[in-house]
Amino acid sequence: MDRKSHVIIGSGINSLVAAAMLAVKGDRVTVLEREATLGGCMRTEEATLPGFRHDVMATTFVLFLTGPAWAALGKDLERHGLKLCHARHPTAVLRPDGSSLVLATDRAANIAAWNALSPGDGDRHAEDVGRVERDAPFLFGLLGGALWSRQTAKLVGGQAWKRGPRGLAEWFGHALTPARAWLETGYTSPLVQALWAPWGLHAGLTPEAPTSGQMGRVIAFALEAAGAPVVEGGAGRAVEAFARLIEEKGGSIRTNADVARIVHAGGRVTGVELAGGEHVAATSILASVTPGQLYGRLLADADLPREKEATRRFQHGRGNFQLHYALDRPPEWLTPGLEDVALIHLTDGIDAVSKSANEGERGMLPEMPTICVGQPHRLDSSRCPEGKAVLWLQIPDGPRVLKGDAKGEIETDGVWTDEVRERFADRIEAILARHIRDFASIRLARRAYSPADLKAMNMNLVGGDPYGGACGIDQFFLWRPFKHSRGGETPLKGLLHIGASTHPGPGLGGGSGFLAAKALGA
Ligand SMILES: Cc1cc2nc3c(=O)[nH]c(=O)nc-3n(C[C@H](O)[C@H](O)[C@H](O)COP(=O)(O)OP(=O)(O)OC[C@H]3O[C@@H](n4cnc5c(N)ncnc54)[C@H](O)[C@@H]3O)c2cc1C
Repeated sequence: MDRKSHVIIGSGINSLVAAAMLAVKGDRVTVLEREATLGGCMRTEEATLPGFRHDVMATTFVLFLTGPAWAALGKDLERHGLKLCHARHPTAVLRPDGSSLVLATDRAANIAAWNALSPGDGDRHAEDVGRVERDAPFLFGLLGGALWSRQTAKLVGGQAWKRGPRGLAEWFGHALTPARAWLETGYTSPLVQALWAPWGLHAGLTPEAPTSGQMGRVIAFALEAAGAPVVEGGAGRAVEAFARLIEEKGGSIRTNADVARIVHAGGRVTGVELAGGEHVAATSILASVTPGQLYGRLLADADLPREKEATRRFQHGRGNFQLHYALDRPPEWLTPGLEDVALIHLTDGIDAVSKSANEGERGMLPEMPTICVGQPHRLDSSRCPEGKAVLWLQIPDGPRVLKGDAKGEIETDGVWTDEVRERFADRIEAILARHIRDFASIRLARRAYSPADLKAMNMNLVGGDPYGGACGIDQFFLWRPFKHSRGGETPLKGLLHIGASTHPGPGLGGGSGFLAAKALGA
């Protein structure tokens, strides 16, 4: 057997990044995906009507574009057909009273607009994103780098030297600030507060969670600098570009290949066994799965009491709910200025986000869910027939374990039945329709995915948790997936744990796949 042959379990972004980097390096890679479709959370389908292409799950590639995997692979992926489409207005908020605020990819314009809204708010924005920019090497080194490494030790040491120990402690104190504190003490305009309040949800946090303020500032910086790009033709096209690159470099990719067991002997992995019994040998294995699957299924026979106990304590986050529309024409928003915005949040602000997230956290269908509306057709005309439109709606504060309805209207016995899903979709649609002229008459079709539906498409989405595990500080950074983890290392030689459940966490950045490939010499 080739000394450097890697089996990669799963075909999400982290697996594809690792497979591509290792294949480019010249190693042998085999990607094994249990579903019939490659890509994990990157999946494009005609989910409503023929000719309407929907990103069923993930759609926004800003984390990929701004991350190290893009720097390593972007040129090769573009050669294989990946093209990103941009909008001048990455995000906006639309409040129930119809007031709105739009972010531009132009810092000076944002500063001027927000100072006009409330004197000082624009200057504060300049300060917030300016600080992220100044701190970028340190901040992004921590957010995306291998934390247990000489490089990170040097980075932190350098900062302690530059700022002094007290200055560094102060820096971390700021980094821990929750979004509520950041926004309430920083900005006086309710619109500016409402613009950023929901963004922490996309990092798996709530407005009161430590670090949600820092994540909010980082997201503000990234959206303003890089926009909210989508892939031309849909996220599935990114998967195709990865697959072509991996195969061009001699890698092999298989679908309908469910890995049932990781085979090991004497503390080292030797290969995997598929559900049908087939054995695939490898010198190293990269497993993009949840801790529950890794230690509960794939390594059920291994004597690893510490990992198994830590897995028992591993916590998943809120469930995600997706809703897609095919429209007869682009939506005419009753509030002007939203036509060309990539992602619009419908929420009243911090309290509203906090309430809906808390309801979702407690297993309740939120009374007034926080809704993120994507308009991919404005960035990429290939998504639907000319003159038509598609909408991508995400509700990031759904219940993972369904216990009831915060509004007391939808009957549930704890199961995501079709009836519960469609009635919850009706609630979301009623909120959306209030803001779009004649919505009922332009609505051609809709398709809803409950957290249970998402899980059925990708077993890593436990309870519809889109982020591979709760993202509170106790289960992030140094402590992801486990308190005792050293990144993606495992007790078995040759086995690396990657994917959203591991540092640097979820999103389309492909960070853990990148770090694993680097650790293997790519
Ligand atoms: C609905 C939704 C919307 C999102 N929107 C965005 C967005 O717009 N932008 C963004 O940056 N992030 C978004 N996210 C988050 C982001 O998509 C995920 O964090 C990220 O894609 C996870 O990638 P991953 O590498 O961990 O693998 P995943 O994409 O989770 O894929 C894992 C793959 O492994 C396969 N697998 C699991 N077990 C086995 C096994 N035993 N054998 C073989 N194969 C196996 C699964 O079938 C799956 O295909 C979204 C997530 C969801 C669910």
